[in-house]
Amino acid sequence: MASDARASSPERIAEGVWHPPRSSEAIKAEIWVQGDSVIVRRTGAGAGEAALALGFLSTIEVSSRVGNVPRRIAFSNGSLFETPDNAGIDLLLQKRGSNQAGLFVHGLERFHPRLIVFVVAVFLLATAIYRFALPALVEVAVLVTPDVVPQAMSVGTLKSLDATVLKPSQLPEAKRRAIEAGFSELARRADRGTGGYSLNFREGGAIGPNAFALPSGTIILTDELVDVAGDDTDMVLAVLAHEIGHVDKKHSLRQIYRAAGTAGLIMLIAGDVGSAAQDVLTNGAALLSLSYSREAESEADHYSVFLMTKSGRDPLALARFFTALQEKLNVGPEETSMFDTHPGMPDRQKMIEQWAREAKEAKAETK
Ligand SMILES: [Zn+2]
Repeated sequence: MASDARASSPERIAEGVWHPPRSSEAIKAEIWVQGDSVIVRRTGAGAGEAALALGFLSTIEVSSRVGNVPRRIAFSNGSLFETPDNAGIDLLLQKRGSNQAGLFVHGLERFHPRLIVFVVAVFLLATAIYRFALPALVEVAVLVTPDVVPQAMSVGTLKSLDATVLKPSQLPEAKRRAIEAGFSELARRADRGTGGYSLNFREGGAIGPNAFALPSGTIILTDELVDVAGDDTDMVLAVLAHEIGHVDKKHSLRQIYRAAGTAGLIMLIAGDVGSAAQDVLTNGAALLSLSYSREAESEADHYSVFLMTKSGRDPLALARFFTALQEKLNVGPEETSMFDTHPGMPDRQKMIEQWAREAKEAKAETK
């Protein structure tokens, strides 16, 4: 340890004279520091010769610096060391300072071990709650959430988004019909069936090419995203299948609950949803700012491949859409609004290709 290393190497601090206790005699001497010990030796003393005075950094008295007045160090036996070497004495005081800091910590450890144990225990408990109890509470909350809650959340969110960022869609009627037809084919094969999801067309404005799902099954698709796909409607449908995946796996409900934190969840499960909590749960901006975990994205991608295959459409359309989006916007995957929530694009494309192959093989086997 550091203090042992220091203890093994004595350091010469300054030269001066030493006055024995109650004596005017002056002996040429040097002052040394070794660890937290202060030693005065006769100048030129042999290795075996006894020290003139011994003290500790914490117990010696050092006179203040006043111009060029020699500094005095008083030892507890009454002897004095005197030197004009101000720099040397300042170094000694500096060592005493750092040594005292060490003493302070040492004192804490010695006198308040319980306090430190307590602080560590609280920290560990908080970490454990966050890591283990919160995910468990989230699952409980998702299970006990009555259907009216996601309904209320979604209505509130869409309302606030319509009042702020979103505008009515400008898509041509034919395009809209084609997407709606494909969407209802996907919905028919998903967990909730045709009535379980609603598709809403909007101009995205600030949020650009985007699609997102609210917990109730409300899915919002921006005109800008449809533009990116061009004539390739399967791309749009693959994205919608991905969003249906988020709904069926209850990703956004989980995400909201995770953001609400432990206290919010306990309130929710206990049935005491205050107005503040309600505000959070129905606030569109808050909902939009949440991003899914990588696992949730991967799960939704897999679901897209599954639904597209089941509907007889191209399961690779999602991977194609990622490429199209990057090309169209000419930016890296991290810089577009949709992709802050969609990390690891090349990995995801590779996984989509693999799942598509597996889905094709599975389909061939059943024929
Ligand atoms: Zn997603």
